[in-house]
Amino acid sequence: MRILIISDIHANLTAFETVLKDAEGEWDYVWCLGDVVGYGPDPNECVDLLRSLPHLCLAGNHDWAALGRLDVRTFNPDARFAVEWTQDTLTDENLAYLEALPTTFVIGSFTLTHGSPREPVWEYILEPIVAALNFPHFETPYCFVGHTHQPVIYQLVSDNGDTEALAPRYGARHNLGEYRQIINPGSVGQPRDSNPNAAYGILDTAEMYFEHRRIPYDIRRTQERMRSHGLPERLVTRLEHGW
Ligand code: ZN
Repeated sequence: MRILIISDIHANLTAFETVLKDAEGEWDYVWCLGDVVGYGPDPNECVDLLRSLPHLCLAGNHDWAALGRLDVRTFNPDARFAVEWTQDTLTDENLAYLEALPTTFVIGSFTLTHGSPREPVWEYILEPIVAALNFPHFETPYCFVGHTHQPVIYQLVSDNGDTEALAPRYGARHNLGEYRQIINPGSVGQPRDSNPNAAYGILDTAEMYFEHRRIPYDIRRTQERMRSHGLPERLVTRLEHGW
């Protein structure tokens, strides 16, 4: 079975559609690691499109923010504005969909979560030491996470917790092999690794390989829709810089 692995769409329909077109015919099922909404101009369209696909989806912190589960007073003004706009825009049906998302899911050899196995909604795994601390918190050989918007593979290379970070090699097959791993496909709709192109991954569970992918999309189209909804300019411009 081939799985399209996506995360952090962040209501960016143009990026989401571009990823689906790029991966067309190459997958049987979708695993979405959360943050379907938040920041971008198309929350309903992105939830509708995801729901039209055979998929499972995890809850992210921005999905929770849209449900009013977080105290937005702790957000900076731009983020707060975007959260409130998203809350006002989402339909009741799509809010109910987000409401039902799990925070962790175990399927075969894989654990799926938005942030990290020990703090599914919140923790950012940005360094090997944080990945190392998370390996004892899941039982499967492999785990997929999103949340940081940075594609990477962490692998546990010794019994005493030594963990190394592998930079993504786009379009190349990474054989999963013997080491336990925490894999981040990167973000579809708001990359933060100084590369503005949409990121995603393909997992083949028969041949047991994972492939990071990157694809340019029409950023200006997304930016125009953000401006037409009055979303904060800082959130608009960051898309073209990938931060
Ligand atoms: Zn996110």
